[in-house]
Amino acid sequence: MHQRTIYLDHAATTPVRPTVLEAMLPYFSETYGNPSSIHRTGRGANVALQKARQTLAELLGARPAEIIFTSCGTESDNAALRGIALARRTATGARRIITTPIEHKAILQTAEELRDRFGFTLTLLPVNGEGVVQIDALAEALADPSEVAVVSVMLANNEVGTVEPLAALGALCREAGVPLHTDAVQAGGKLDLNVAALQVNAMSLGAHKFYGPKGVGLLYLRSGTPFQPFMTGGSHEGGRRAGTENVPLIVGMAKALELAEAERASEGPRLRLLRDRLIGGVLEGVEGAALTGSATSRLDNHASFVIDGADAEGMLIALDLVGVAASSGSACASGANRPSHVLDALGISPARAAGALRFSLGASTTPADIDYVLERLPAIVERVRS
Ligand code: PLP
Repeated sequence: MHQRTIYLDHAATTPVRPTVLEAMLPYFSETYGNPSSIHRTGRGANVALQKARQTLAELLGARPAEIIFTSCGTESDNAALRGIALARRTATGARRIITTPIEHKAILQTAEELRDRFGFTLTLLPVNGEGVVQIDALAEALADPSEVAVVSVMLANNEVGTVEPLAALGALCREAGVPLHTDAVQAGGKLDLNVAALQVNAMSLGAHKFYGPKGVGLLYLRSGTPFQPFMTGGSHEGGRRAGTENVPLIVGMAKALELAEAERASEGPRLRLLRDRLIGGVLEGVEGAALTGSATSRLDNHASFVIDGADAEGMLIALDLVGVAASSGSACASGANRPSHVLDALGISPARAAGALRFSLGASTTPADIDYVLERLPAIVERVRS
C-alpha cells in the first residue's frame, strides 16, 4: 500500500487550512454566545458574525445585508431556486424556470420538484459538446420574459470543469428583467466572484470547496430580488433564513475565502500548468482517453476524461491502492451506478461515460504528484480493461 495520499479530489472537498481552523477555534467555547442575545457574550459572537459578513460581502462586491448564511451549497441552491421562483410566481404569476441539464442535482432536483409539485414549467438550455451553455438559446427562452420566474446557470461545472459565460447570460437576463442565480460552488476561490461583473442576482457558495469547513455556505441575494424563505422560525439573516447562525463555521468561511482570494492570482496559473501537464500526459500516454468539458474555458484545477473500455470504479480502486485519490466526476452521485446526467447532456454515450475519471488539483498538488499519476495510470487502465 502506498503511504502518502496524493489527493486529487479537491472538487469533492478540501482540507481546512490550519489558519482557518485557528480563526474558528475561539468561537466554539470562548466567544460562544448566541449572536442574537443582548448580553456581552452574545454581542461578542455578533461582532464576529458581522465582521465575517462584511469580509465576504467585500470579496463578492456585495453589501453585507445581501449575504445570507446557510448550511451548505446545496441549501443555498435550494433557497435561491425555491425562494425566488415562489416569490416571483406570487408577485407576477411567472411560472417558468430556466436552467441547464448540467447543473448539480441540488438545482436539477429542486427544479423538478417545483415543476411536479408547484406547477412550474421547466426549460433546460442546450449545451454544446464541451458543456458550454448556448447564449442564443437563453435569448430565445426569454422571448416572453413575463413568463419566466428565475434563471439558474452554474458558474463552473463540477464534473467536467467547464466555465460558463455568466456575464453574457446575466446581461440578457438583466435586459429581460428576470433574476439570474448562479451555483458558484465549484468556482469559490478559483474564479472572480464579483457579482456585478457576473451580472447575477443570486449566487451560491459552500466553504468546504475552498479550504473552509463543511456545514456552512452562503447565498448572495441582490437587494430587491423577490425571495420567499423556506426556513422559517426566526428573524435571523434578515428574516430570510431562520436558525441560530453557526458563528465558528461562518468565521472560518470568511477567513478561507479571504485567503483563497489573496492567493488566486498566483495559485491559478500554478495549478493551470499542472493541470495542462496532466491533461497532455493522459491524452498522450493512455490510449482511448479523451478530455471531457472545454479545453479552454475550464477551471484551473480540473482535469476530466473518459477512458474507453475502462470501468471508472475499477480505475478509482486501483488508483486508491497506489495512493491516489480521484473521482469519476461527482462524489454525490458515486455509488449510484447511473451514467452521469452531465456527460449525457454533452452527448457522451453511457458506454463511454462508464470510463469517466476526474482529477481535481489543489494547494497540496506538486509536479511530482502529476508525474506519479502519469507513470501509474497507463498500466492501471490496461489492467482494468483486461
Ligand atoms: N453545486 C455544485 C456545482 C457542487 O459541486 C456541489 C458539491 O459538490 C454542490 C452544489 C453542493 O454543495 P455542498 O456539498 O456544499 O452541499
